[in-house]
Amino acid sequence: MEKILLVVFDGLGDRPVSVLNGKTPLEAAVKPNLDALAARGMVGLVHTVGVGIRPGSDVAHLGLLGYDPHKYYCGRGPFEAAGYGLDLAPGDVAMRGNFGTVDKDMVITDRRAGRIDDASELVKAFDGMEIDGVKILLKAGVGHRVAVVFRGPGLDSGITEPDPHRTGVKVREAEPVGGGPAARATAGIVNRFIRKTREILSGQPLNAKRMEMGLPPANIILLRGPGMLAKFPPFADRFGMKAACVAGAGLYKGISRLLGFDIISVPGATGKPDTDVSAKVQAALTAFGTHQFVFLHLKGTDVLAEDKNPLGKKEFIEKADKAFGLLMDRKDMLIAVTGDHSTASALGMHTADPVPLLISGTDIRTDRCGSFGETGCAAGSLGHIMGVNLMPVLIDQLGKAPLYGA
Ligand code: ZN
Repeated sequence: MEKILLVVFDGLGDRPVSVLNGKTPLEAAVKPNLDALAARGMVGLVHTVGVGIRPGSDVAHLGLLGYDPHKYYCGRGPFEAAGYGLDLAPGDVAMRGNFGTVDKDMVITDRRAGRIDDASELVKAFDGMEIDGVKILLKAGVGHRVAVVFRGPGLDSGITEPDPHRTGVKVREAEPVGGGPAARATAGIVNRFIRKTREILSGQPLNAKRMEMGLPPANIILLRGPGMLAKFPPFADRFGMKAACVAGAGLYKGISRLLGFDIISVPGATGKPDTDVSAKVQAALTAFGTHQFVFLHLKGTDVLAEDKNPLGKKEFIEKADKAFGLLMDRKDMLIAVTGDHSTASALGMHTADPVPLLISGTDIRTDRCGSFGETGCAAGSLGHIMGVNLMPVLIDQLGKAPLYGA
């Protein structure tokens, strides 16, 4: 084996739910391929950031890809912006945002503007925008998502988030953290930008149309996750493998891009439950012609669990499992399947529960687990590992780990 395929189901882990007869969505899913992969290898549980820590997807992925999140995390904004194809420059402040809905008093009534399908038309209204000599660049992501980059001298990402993360309250003012002049100036520009989004978006024809149809208008941009670019040692230098990323959603492409991965575009990869998993698996296999490491990300599990839909999550796992039929005869690669965190579908939120992991390959150790799930993995031979342990474990399975000591 010379190659590694890392499959990450976003929010894979879960808790037992009554609608699935006390099983988790992964345990309840009919998934012969994942079960066979588990039977051919080892299983365990991963704390992607730390024991008892409820991880965001960004820090969790840094950990899984071998980058200590406590050392390398620079805020989510830069990852999203990079994932949407914005080229960041040193000194830029990047934030991620949602198109949302506010009433006349700036009270949030919908954080995702009715999960608007496509906001790319709205983004055009901000072309060439500048406030106090600071250029503001926007790029629409999937659905209601948008990345915003503030570019100019003397900016600082040390500001609070204007997005209060809930409805029924007013949009917050960004405040400087620590009180330095750069953070103060940045907060002022961000606040003026947000007020302008209200003005500009209210006049957009798309919003008039949405209101006519009884849909919430996308009349505000709610910003969060401010950050400035950190320096990442390239993945290829650290692990000696040329890497590619197959993902639909922006964040995962962004993290990969900043670590030096090639991003493979796949028609039909939506970053949503309707994604074409077969096309993504096929693209991953094709990428192995030129790369030794492929990271394949599937977002559907997390989206459905956050929508409190355990049955949908189970069915998404079953759909993916069918597509994994393409992987079953590959003897040339190590296959690892895990999640970036657990998302409890009863609660609709990330939890700190560790996530199931399987590592499958030719001539590697096996354990007694023949069913990929939270309970089986708890008894697996990999035990409990941290996210940053995963890459060294995988590299060692290929016989390529450096010797420590003599
Ligand atoms: Zn996630």
